[in-house]
Amino acid sequence: MKEFQPRVGYFSAEIGVSPSIPSYSGGLGVLAGDHVKAAADAAFPLVGVTLLYREGYMNQRIDAQGRQTEEYPPFNPSWLLENLHKSVSIRINSHTIHLGIWRYWIEGVTGFRVPILFLDSDLPENEEAHRDLCSRLYAGDNQHRLYQEMAMGLGGMAALKLLGYQKSIKVYHMNEGHTAFLTLDLLKDSRGAVESVRQQCVFTTHTPVPAGHDEFSYDIALPALGAFAPANLKDLADNHGKLSMTNLALHLSRSINAVSKLHAQVAQHMYPDDTVKAVTNGVHHLSWTSRETQHLYDKNLPKWSVDPTELLKVKDISDTALWESHMENKSNLLDYANAMTQKGLSPDLLTFGFARRAATYKRANLLFYDMERLASVCKGKVQFIFAGKAHPRDEHGKEVIQELYTHVKQLSGRVNIVFLENYNMWLGRLITSGVDVWLNTPLRPNEASGTSGMKAALNGVPNLSILDGWWNEGCRNGENGWSFGEPMIPSDRSDASELYRVLEEKVIPVFYENRSAWIQMMRESIKTGVEFTAKRMLDDYIREIYKLS
Ligand SMILES: *Cc1c(COP(=O)(O)O)cnc(C)c1O
Repeated sequence: MKEFQPRVGYFSAEIGVSPSIPSYSGGLGVLAGDHVKAAADAAFPLVGVTLLYREGYMNQRIDAQGRQTEEYPPFNPSWLLENLHKSVSIRINSHTIHLGIWRYWIEGVTGFRVPILFLDSDLPENEEAHRDLCSRLYAGDNQHRLYQEMAMGLGGMAALKLLGYQKSIKVYHMNEGHTAFLTLDLLKDSRGAVESVRQQCVFTTHTPVPAGHDEFSYDIALPALGAFAPANLKDLADNHGKLSMTNLALHLSRSINAVSKLHAQVAQHMYPDDTVKAVTNGVHHLSWTSRETQHLYDKNLPKWSVDPTELLKVKDISDTALWESHMENKSNLLDYANAMTQKGLSPDLLTFGFARRAATYKRANLLFYDMERLASVCKGKVQFIFAGKAHPRDEHGKEVIQELYTHVKQLSGRVNIVFLENYNMWLGRLITSGVDVWLNTPLRPNEASGTSGMKAALNGVPNLSILDGWWNEGCRNGENGWSFGEPMIPSDRSDASELYRVLEEKVIPVFYENRSAWIQMMRESIKTGVEFTAKRMLDDYIREIYKLS
C-alpha cells in the first residue's frame, strides 16, 4: 500500500469522531470530527492531530435540586485506537515529557482513509506529575493549560515528523488558538522566517466571547517554552502584556476565518488589522442522520450518501414515508427519555428539543421568562426535552441548569419538560432527529455558528431560532422553520415575548391543524440541511482557504 501523504495537518484540541471516544466537550470538537470525516469522504489527504484524554471530558450527573456533579470514568484507548508504540518528547521547563502516539483511521464513504493522531501523556517513562497532563479536557490551572497546549502544538509537530507525514504537508490548519504553538516549531525550523511560516498556516476562530481566548503570562510561558520562544515572541503574540494564543495564530497565518457570515463580521471588529473570511460550518450528513432517516434516504434517493445534494429532490419522498420515518425517530427518543425520567412524554404532543452546552449566552432559560404566558401558550399541547453539560468549573453554567430544574418543577403538571443527563454525541443524534422542532435562543450575536440545528434540519426537523450564527443564513421564515427576536437590539424580554407569539400563532397551529404544510416544512428543512453539510464546508476550505495548487 502506498504510504499516506497528507497535504493538510489539521490541529484541534478536540476531535470528536464518535460517542465511543471521549475526545470532545462540545461543538468545537464535534465540528472538527466532521471536518476530518468530510476529508475522508472526499478522498482529501488530511491528517488530524489532537490529544488523548484518558478521562475524557466528563460524565454528567444531576441531583433532584438540579446540581451537576461530574464523573470521570477512565477511557481505555487500546480497544479502539491503534497504538503505534512510538513516542515523541518535548522539553517543558527543565523536564522532558514523552507523548505516545495512537492512531485512528476514519474511513470515508468511498473507502478512502485519513488518520487522526492522538497524543498520550500517560506513559511510564514520564514523571508521575506529568502522566495526567492530557487526561482531561480544559482541566487544571493556567500552567497546566499551557503545558497541554505545548503538547498539542509542539508534540503534534514532532509526531508528524516522526511518522514521515510532515514532508508532504503544505498547510497547517489551526482549529482555534489552542493549537497555535505549532507555529513556534515551524519558526524554529525556518530560523525565524515569519513570512515563510505564515504561508503555511491558516487559522479558524470559533468564539466571539473574549473568555474563549487563552492567555498566558510570560513569567510562566517563557521558561516553559525555552528554545521554542523566539526573540520576537511578544511582537507576535502579545495582548496587553500576556501571550495570547489567538494573537499568535492571527500573526502567523496567511488566512483567518470565522465560522459563519455573521460571526465573520463580529470577528472582523475584534481583529481590525486582519481580514476575516467566513466559512460557515457544516455537519457530516452520515453521522448526524438517524438510522431511520438514513434508511429513508437510501430507499428514495440512494446517491445521497456520496452526494448529499441528492436530498434536494426530497419532493420525491411521499408525505407518508417522511412522516412515518419521523415518528419512528420520535418514538426512539421518547422511549429513551421516558425510560430515563418516567415523565410520560407522549408521541402525540408537539415536542421541542433544546440541547447545548449550558453557557449563559445560550439562554436555556429564556423560554421561562414569563412562566404564566408559557403555560397558557402550551395549553397541554406541547412538551420539551432539554439536555446540556456545564463545564465543571463554570459556576454560571451550573446555575443555568439549576434554574432550569426549578422552572421545570414550577411548571409540573402544566407543561411536561424533561432534562436528559449527560449530553453527548449519541444523545445529540437521538435528540436532533427525534423532536418535532429544534429550539435555539442565544443572545445575538454570540452564537458563532451553532451546528445542532443543522443536524435537526438534515433529519427534516424545522428550526425555531434567533437569527444568530448559521440560522441567520439558513432561515427562510415560515418555510423551513421560524425566526424570532429583534436582531439589532436583542433583549430577554422582547425575545421571549416574540417567542411566545410565534409558538402560539405559527408553530402550534400548523402542527395540529395543517399536517401537510408541516411536512412541507420538513422537506424544506432537509433542503436547507444540504447547504450546511461538512462536505460543502470542506469544499469551501479547499477552494478558499487551503488553496493547494
Ligand atoms: C452538535 C453538538 C454540539 C454543538 O451544538 P451547538 O448547536 O453548536 O451548541 C455540542 N455537543 C454535542 C454533543 C453535539 O452533538
